[in-house]
Amino acid sequence: MSKFIASAAIRGGQEIVKEADQLLKETLEKYGPEQKVGFANTAYYLPVIYAYTAHKVEKLGDMIQPMEQAKALLPRRMPTEKLWLPYLGETLDAGVATLFAEEIISGVRHVMGVQPEKQNGYTYNGPIDDIQLRTWGIQLVDGRMPGFAAIVGRAKTNAIAVKIVRELQQRNILIFLSGNVNGKGIVEQLLEEGVELGYDTFTVPFGSDTISAIYALGFAARSALTFGGMKPGQAKDVLLYNKNRVHAFVLALGEVDDLKYATAAGAITYGFPTIADTVIPNIMPTGITKYEHVVSMPFDDIPGNDDMERAERLIQRCIEVRGLKLQITKVPIPVSYSAAFEGERIRRGDYQVEFGGRGGVTFELLLSKKLDEVEDGKITVVGPDLDAMPVDSNQPLGVVVEVAGRKMQKDFEPVLERQIHHFVNMAEGVQHIGQRDIPWIRIHKNSVARGFRLRHFGDILYARLHADFGAIVDKVQVTLYTKQDKVRELREQARQVYNERNERAANLTDESVDTFYSCTLCQSYAPTHVCIINPERVGLCGAYNWLDCKASYEINPTGPNQPVPKGAVIDESKGEWEGSNRFTYQHSQQQVNRMTLYSLMDAPTTSCGCFECIMMIIPEANGVMILSRDDPSMSPVGMTFSTLAGMAGGGLQTPGVMGHGKFYILSKKFIPKEGGFKRVVWISSNLKEELAEGIKEVCQRIGEPDLMDKIADERVATTVEDLVAFLETKEHPALSMEPIIQ
Ligand code: SF4
Ligand code: ZN
Repeated sequence: MSKFIASAAIRGGQEIVKEADQLLKETLEKYGPEQKVGFANTAYYLPVIYAYTAHKVEKLGDMIQPMEQAKALLPRRMPTEKLWLPYLGETLDAGVATLFAEEIISGVRHVMGVQPEKQNGYTYNGPIDDIQLRTWGIQLVDGRMPGFAAIVGRAKTNAIAVKIVRELQQRNILIFLSGNVNGKGIVEQLLEEGVELGYDTFTVPFGSDTISAIYALGFAARSALTFGGMKPGQAKDVLLYNKNRVHAFVLALGEVDDLKYATAAGAITYGFPTIADTVIPNIMPTGITKYEHVVSMPFDDIPGNDDMERAERLIQRCIEVRGLKLQITKVPIPVSYSAAFEGERIRRGDYQVEFGGRGGVTFELLLSKKLDEVEDGKITVVGPDLDAMPVDSNQPLGVVVEVAGRKMQKDFEPVLERQIHHFVNMAEGVQHIGQRDIPWIRIHKNSVARGFRLRHFGDILYARLHADFGAIVDKVQVTLYTKQDKVRELREQARQVYNERNERAANLTDESVDTFYSCTLCQSYAPTHVCIINPERVGLCGAYNWLDCKASYEINPTGPNQPVPKGAVIDESKGEWEGSNRFTYQHSQQQVNRMTLYSLMDAPTTSCGCFECIMMIIPEANGVMILSRDDPSMSPVGMTFSTLAGMAGGGLQTPGVMGHGKFYILSKKFIPKEGGFKRVVWISSNLKEELAEGIKEVCQRIGEPDLMDKIADERVATTVEDLVAFLETKEHPALSMEPIIQ
């Protein structure tokens, strides 16, 4: 450890601990120890402190203990000329003290109402909420997102700031922004350049000072607790988990002051290295981080013809230092292409052309053909192209993708077709919503000006289908139709195909197959979690159904989706087979020896952390409630989604509580042993609305056509008492069913 850095980090730690201590004293005097504190929409209290110590900060008074711990951690001495200690331990202790102090300050700022911070009419994000944590968690699990970059400070110029962010976005790396140099930070630089910031573009502007960088470490700590099944207080495990599984680094732009050194020292305890674009001493590996701890890359000394090239090299170096694994497919189009553009919204006035939407005519169809019927790489546009369409107009569009391959099966058509949305949406300046005969697409004027044309849809689909599904697809040809009559005519034909597919899907039951599929993607976060995916039940995250897994196995026979032969029946009504039990036992580190696929009470499925919904029994109501992860409100059992998820996640099997995909609610195999859908007494209102059509059908099917109106939600009941009262007035059938707990 360099003496220079050690001294700076210790000084920075001492300063910030003093500041936090002072601030806490003043706030305690003003508001008293009983004043509630906590970040919004998270169940993890002050997450860094919670992960390190298991101490829950719920009131101002609860901050006193971690404050004392921070003080105790501070080294008493500065490194002296004579004392040649390695300094590392003391510096890291100062780093941890710094993180505690920063989190306490942030917590106090929430009490004072100055977080999330507002400046010049702009509201910074503040900490990431639990819902977003889970959404990104899935992407971090399946490798779509290689890791995150915590950028602190300010780039040399605005143009460099933009370039750095674009380089990271292109690689799907999540970007956290905070800090400043002499009063101006990278967030301001990006805003000045009109860069769209927010969850949808993988950029989170935490705040304008260094202290707000604490939210990046809070995010990492919560990942370990949510997805890794780590227990709060197991500091060493949490840190090791971050070192090995959460691929993050700190990029310090501009001058590094004492507080930045101290915060970087805190980040090093997580295994996150710091790369600085100024001259500072390097720190070589000692085992705490995987590679170097601190790397200096003075910006003007980076080889390159101009600042843009230097910025590119800087990011490449960051990726090397942290050892990020990237999955990139080159797509030959005149605009950028990356998952960071997937959530991009294009507003009225900004688009050149719009397809579909209200009153529009569009469809997308993917068909499998014989090998000799498809000419690989052929892309045809029939009708006028984007530059020939009036600006701001709504146009018809039909996309027909024909694929051929020896291992291609008709069953895989919808699996591949669904990817069109995802593939096309990743182009910069293209917004794509919906599928089948309801796609709604907008193309930004700037993208058309840069040469983007309809044939590039074909180029994207061609490149991505080959790259992602090359194992089953040998040939791809794409035809795009833009003439009204032709699109209408072909849409009718497409609708027939959709109808046939619907029928096939309805006939695909658990009884009709002898093999289920596994998914173990979430094991990188929850090592004992196994999803067994059957035709009538999707994976917990909702992203994989039985057909997806079947296709995925064809594509990657050694991948996370393996065939699971059902084997002999143990109990059909609970969904228990010898084969699925055996598989689960073998792949859960021998932790789970029985797992029923349809029962909530008897050996239910394990829950990872990214489930769309969580179900829990409410004995007083003799039924179950279903809470959606988009619902931040309080449930009748006195817990929010996040709290429940923290309780049941991490690969645990918890009778009475179970994570599941939202479409499982509509399945005929919905907890039959417990009485099926009749047991549902409460559902988050957003979920109820989203699935309204499907739920009505279920109610008809089970002979309870009025049941929908008898099911409560957070608008009528957030306590058990209110819930039971509501159910009684409505005469909900669950009240007269046999007791759910036998
Ligand atoms: Fe995780 Fe299950 Fe979804 Fe696979 S199907 S990603 S294991 S939740
Ligand atoms: Zn999961």
